Amino acid sequence: MKRIWFYLVALLALSSCQHKQPEPIPHDPMATLLEGNRRFMEGHPIHPDQTLERIRQLKKGQHPFAVVVSCSDSRVPPELIFDQGLGDLFSIRTAGNVVGDYELGSIEYAVEHLGCNLVVVLGHKNCGAVEAFLHEEGGRHHDHIQTILDYIASEAEEKSLPDSLKHNLDAAVRANIYHAVHLLQSSEPVLKPRVERKELRIVGAYYDIETGQVSLMDNSKSIALK
Ligand SMILES: [Zn+2]
Repeated sequence: MKRIWFYLVALLALSSCQHKQPEPIPHDPMATLLEGNRRFMEGHPIHPDQTLERIRQLKKGQHPFAVVVSCSDSRVPPELIFDQGLGDLFSIRTAGNVVGDYELGSIEYAVEHLGCNLVVVLGHKNCGAVEAFLHEEGGRHHDHIQTILDYIASEAEEKSLPDSLKHNLDAAVRANIYHAVHLLQSSEPVLKPRVERKELRIVGAYYDIETGQVSLMDNSKSIALK
């Protein structure tokens, strides 16, 4: 009898030591993100794959299914608001979700070498970084910030945004998201060809830090996703 128990325990120990393969990339990565955001928004996150065991499963490599470019703001952690786990998201975070050369290089790495086929540029309501850009008085800013302001100005003209744009933080946040999306979509030689071949999707999204909801943006408007 003791021998049988020994074999059973040994069998269980062996099975628990087997390393599962990372989950395959979801058929629809955007839908997976939005489903996770719904769980978060409704207060029922499942916090998937956030254990030490998961890290052990991933020790041979990572296969994140999406790149998320978001603000460094402490209220905007992608894994939490999309209710995803270790190994799921390739995160790039800068104040104001600004995309410069370093961030672009990171995105290209995720697309070229990790196989990500979705890039989400995630701006958020009441972004302090964008607000700081808008309220900066006097002179031109250093290059990256000025690029954002220049883009916001061009967006204001193109999208017929109100002249009071400099007092409209929400419009500026959205223009800033458009700017990053357009920059990435037109970036050569890595991203643009893949977008044109429909191998890569680059989208803008807006996160409402009051409701927790992430809405996809469609150039001139945001769409609340159900
Ligand atoms: Zn921010």
